[in-house]
Amino acid sequence: MESVPKERVDCVVIGAGVVGLAVARELSVKHKREVLVVDSGPTFGTGTSSRNSEVIHAGIYYPSNSLKALFCVRGRELLYSYCNEHEIPHKQIGKLIVATGSSEVPKLNALITQGIENGVDGLRLMEGSEAMKLEPELQCVKALLSPASGIVDTHSLMLSLVGEAESHGTTFSYNTSVIGGHGEGNHIQLHISESSSLKNWDASTPLHPELILIPRLVVNSAGLSAPTLARRFCSLNGAIPTSSYARGCYFTLSNTKIPPFHHLIYPIPEDGGLGVHVTLDLNGQVKFGPDVEWIDDIDYISSFLNMFDYSVCKDRARQFYPEIRKYYPNLKDGSLEPGYAGIRPKLTGPKQAPADFVVQGEDIHGIAGLVNLFGIESPGLTSSMAIAEYVAAKLIRQ
Ligand SMILES: Cc1cc2nc3c(=O)[nH]c(=O)nc-3n(C[C@H](O)[C@H](O)[C@H](O)COP(=O)(O)OP(=O)(O)OC[C@H]3O[C@@H](n4cnc5c(N)ncnc54)[C@H](O)[C@@H]3O)c2cc1C
Repeated sequence: MESVPKERVDCVVIGAGVVGLAVARELSVKHKREVLVVDSGPTFGTGTSSRNSEVIHAGIYYPSNSLKALFCVRGRELLYSYCNEHEIPHKQIGKLIVATGSSEVPKLNALITQGIENGVDGLRLMEGSEAMKLEPELQCVKALLSPASGIVDTHSLMLSLVGEAESHGTTFSYNTSVIGGHGEGNHIQLHISESSSLKNWDASTPLHPELILIPRLVVNSAGLSAPTLARRFCSLNGAIPTSSYARGCYFTLSNTKIPPFHHLIYPIPEDGGLGVHVTLDLNGQVKFGPDVEWIDDIDYISSFLNMFDYSVCKDRARQFYPEIRKYYPNLKDGSLEPGYAGIRPKLTGPKQAPADFVVQGEDIHGIAGLVNLFGIESPGLTSSMAIAEYVAAKLIRQ
């Protein structure tokens, strides 16, 4: 380590996904800090931030006072006003959560109670007949209308965050991996390697960093890899949660010029996800998904290099048809085409209660100026600007 070059920096954000970018913007624009964003990928947003439903969630599903509930509601407000101010393509198209049988109606009632408790405005239960008048292709017995839900062009959002951060002095270093870190005093020093060196590493020799960064503040927003990376920060106290990964595949609707729906249509949530729902993108493309498939962990180098399996097996369509036909009976055979997949960075596994977002600061792990972000699954996109606000305040206070 003695011979490795060292560099002092003010703030390092690890990961240029939507959360890392929102944090970098918050620190540079609002707090006038000098920020370096490092990402192992060739550009920003190559991870989960480019592999999701692009839905601006209202904040209905999450337990009262959980970080998910608080960040989603606050993040939605921040996101809508940011999109309006910066002309980011988005649309508040509203969403219907539907009960397709009478046995699901109590769940819908529980959802509206939870949503109101979380501070979501405008929620309204409606009879199936009213919902089906609104959406003639829909079949349901009752529905919950959420007018606050919408869609956003995530790439444009991230591009805008990058531009703003850059114009306030943030530097971006792509193809740059953080491979670990060690404590020095009560601060952390980060071990940096070019991603190409990781790709070529044959595992027969120890992995040495090419650079050591000595930052004042560090935000670990490495998404799927955040817990794995934190485990490679020596001298961290406190529990680092175990990761679980749930892949979600999307299928797109082919051969339709006119989208069958104008609202987002969601079934009742299932174990591990929100159910195979209908989302529309801003070009009117209809997609169904994501399903839930629990997958195995991968080694840490592959994880840092985002070498997760994102393939969509076309045979999975067989399970999609009956799920979708519960609320869209006119779905034609052969109309689903494989789309893309994303992987949920979960902290609990199958049949376990979903975990909340975890934001670990010095109070938990004992390292000054370090915040770890774990389990930033949905509604992480909606919450990104609220997470950034919270993380920056936490760091600046320390
Ligand atoms: C299927 C699916 C659907 C979803 N739908 C929605 C939705 O509709 N609405 C919503 O609000 N949320 C949704 N989400 C959640 C949302 O996409 C995520 O919460 C959000 O994108 C997380 O952003 P992030 O910046 O934390 O992570 P990421 O986007 O994964 O970014 C992490 C970055 O860290 C980099 N990295 C990793 N390891 C290292 C390392 N060692 N060194 C340097 N860089 C590293 C990666 O290259 C990556 O760019 C969905 C998620 C999934 C999986």
